[in-house]
Amino acid sequence: MKVADALKILGLERNPSGSQLKSAYKKLALEFHPDRNPGDPEAERRFKQIVIAHETLKNPKRSADRATPRGRKSARQRGEYEEKWEDIFSHIFRSAREPEDKQKSAPGDLHAQVEVTLEELTRDSEKEVSVSRRVRCASCEGSGFEAGAQRSACPACKGAGEVRYRQGLAELWVPCSACDGSGEHTGEACRACMGEGVTSRRENVMLAIPAAAKEGAQIKLKGKGDEDARTGEAGDLIVTVRAKPHPLFQREGNDILLDLPVSFSQAALGHEALIPTLKDARKIKIPAGIQSGREFRLKGEGLSPAGGRNTGDLRIRVIVETPTKLSERQREILAEFQEISSPSTHPRTRSFLEKMRGLLE
Ligand SMILES: [Zn+2]
Ligand SMILES: [Zn+2]
Repeated sequence: MKVADALKILGLERNPSGSQLKSAYKKLALEFHPDRNPGDPEAERRFKQIVIAHETLKNPKRSADRATPRGRKSARQRGEYEEKWEDIFSHIFRSAREPEDKQKSAPGDLHAQVEVTLEELTRDSEKEVSVSRRVRCASCEGSGFEAGAQRSACPACKGAGEVRYRQGLAELWVPCSACDGSGEHTGEACRACMGEGVTSRRENVMLAIPAAAKEGAQIKLKGKGDEDARTGEAGDLIVTVRAKPHPLFQREGNDILLDLPVSFSQAALGHEALIPTLKDARKIKIPAGIQSGREFRLKGEGLSPAGGRNTGDLRIRVIVETPTKLSERQREILAEFQEISSPSTHPRTRSFLEKMRGLLE
């Protein structure tokens, strides 16, 4: 790696002092450390560049000596040199992939659901949902350690603040991610959070649900998700709207559908039916001779989104119910009715019979 490139990667000016180099390296290496970015290929690429840049700048003369024994180095030598780094990196990344027992949580989006009835969707409403959030532990402020515990050397780096990796002639050191490069460790795990740095807390959150909200709509509450143990930053709470099934109504867009059963005789004679709406109940006239499947529309009695545009209707579909389990008397009357029925009382039946006759002739 060229010195100019190495300076750029570490964000340094020409000829940095030893302490400037050290602190720039520590900050960046910890930020892109594989322990803190598991499975992130971009972080992995940045981390390797940062480490190599540091090695290049730490001792430009020595790395030049090693890389170029008198004059230019051959492609083969350069290849061997880079392979050594890859060997060391494979150790670092392998240890990062192994699960840690005390994995600190990252800030996360928290998902919840809220069930709403059709009646609630007729207007803007507020609803309380109860969620279990992970919040930074108050007694240890997210450190995971018991307050006032004796400070001791970090077990991961044995107090050095850095971890050394060696492979043959090559050697490099990386700031310790367990102690942030401080080398210190405060003994006992916090009893309130069992060392996790976060605890679960049940919270009631007020949600504003817009009128006519669709099934599956998501309402986002910024900063009401899980908190990060280290930074205290919170993700978002994302609540999905779920429609509670209604015993009588079905929803279709902003329209509301209602199936209204009407008896065979009511359909023939005409009828005044009491029907429910989303707000109350009302009477509608079913005219004599109504056919099954006919639809009535009560304009504007459906759902109305904010602004009042695209307000839906209440659509009432008539279902003529054929009587079953007839008594003797009912059977007699219907038989008599059938006898005195003429084709003109059943125009559809008449038309059907005429067409069939036409086919059979
Ligand atoms: Zn704690
Ligand atoms: Zn350490």
